[in-house]
Amino acid sequence: MNLKEKDKQYNVGSYGRFPLEIVKGKGSLCWDENGKEYIDLGAGIAVNAFGFCDDEWTAAVKAQLDTLQHTSNLYYTEPCVTLAEMLCKRSGMSKVFFSNSGAEANECAIKAARRYAFQKYGDESHSTIITLKNSFHGRTVTTLSATGQDSFHTEFGPFTQGFLYAEPNDIDGMLKLINENDCAAVMMEMVLGEGGVLSLDPEFVKATVEAARAKDMLIVVDEVQTGNGRTGALYAYMHYGFTPDIFSTAKGLGGGLPIGATLFSEKTENVYTPGTHGSTFGGNPIACAGAVSVFSRIDDALLAEIKKKSDYIVSELSSAKGVKAVSGKGLMLGIACDRPAKEVISGCMENGVLVISAKDKVRLVPALNIPMDQLKKAIDVLKAELAI
Ligand SMILES: *Cc1c(COP(=O)(O)O)cnc(C)c1O
Repeated sequence: MNLKEKDKQYNVGSYGRFPLEIVKGKGSLCWDENGKEYIDLGAGIAVNAFGFCDDEWTAAVKAQLDTLQHTSNLYYTEPCVTLAEMLCKRSGMSKVFFSNSGAEANECAIKAARRYAFQKYGDESHSTIITLKNSFHGRTVTTLSATGQDSFHTEFGPFTQGFLYAEPNDIDGMLKLINENDCAAVMMEMVLGEGGVLSLDPEFVKATVEAARAKDMLIVVDEVQTGNGRTGALYAYMHYGFTPDIFSTAKGLGGGLPIGATLFSEKTENVYTPGTHGSTFGGNPIACAGAVSVFSRIDDALLAEIKKKSDYIVSELSSAKGVKAVSGKGLMLGIACDRPAKEVISGCMENGVLVISAKDKVRLVPALNIPMDQLKKAIDVLKAELAI
């Protein structure tokens, strides 16, 4: 059996994989088993912030690997404290809880919002959380509940109760839900990623934040995909001029190692007390050492580069043949195209460019430091495929 046949035999069939085995990668380039080269605009779904096997990141991870790989949260370790300090200082938040994935970071946020409301009201009367239709918050039973897409709400029930769904960018609909329900929080992605790379309108966000705050509902932002420079700001909420009460992040933070983080503002920093939440692997020294390396490099110069590359892609594609619209922010872009996205993606792959999808769009989430010449080459290939 070859690798693809073995995978089919032994791995659960929950993934529809592309017919491609990646054996090696460096920066924004990777190679298959036949040595064919690809320019990668997917970055492991917005995870490889600095591409494959980035030298600085690899060195940081290797150094930690030879020093201390894991203890438990019964003891102090340096990388997790250093990372927490960096995250708080640069985001304006007060405290962090580390986990291992986006779903876990969101579970932590949801539990915290509920506990905050319970402690305030003394019962479960304000436990409901409003999320957005077309959102994506993860694959655990509770984060699937939070995910506002009906297609995720079949065959795995019963689901966690206590979620209401508002249409993104429908101010009236959102205000109605906020004003007519006693809720713990509103939870949203600033750019809905899996839901089709849809940016929230500033007016919608402003109205939502004001109405929620007026009823002392928490604002929870899911920055799992949008965070850590991806949209051209350190965190996407920073484009909108407010600070959330809780936000979660994951994907790009670890640069390719599993990590999730949930950040708490001054208002919510004491929700968790000893014994009320935990994670065996959370704050793992290697994952945190990798994240320290990634996070310390997301500076103003890099953010400016991200914006420049984003502008380049948008200007190349928005009036290109076969393109209906380009959406998203920074290096998190969606392309609504005339051809089915699936065909564009396989055409690109044949021609040495890896792109992914989000709903019916082609999604581009390249490494934050993709070299301009590689980006140009890849966009030319993509343009040719879109024009067919
Ligand atoms: C990917 C994603 C998640 C889930 O993250 P996992 O690490 O797969 O659990 C949650 N929210 C958003 C916005 C995401 O993009």
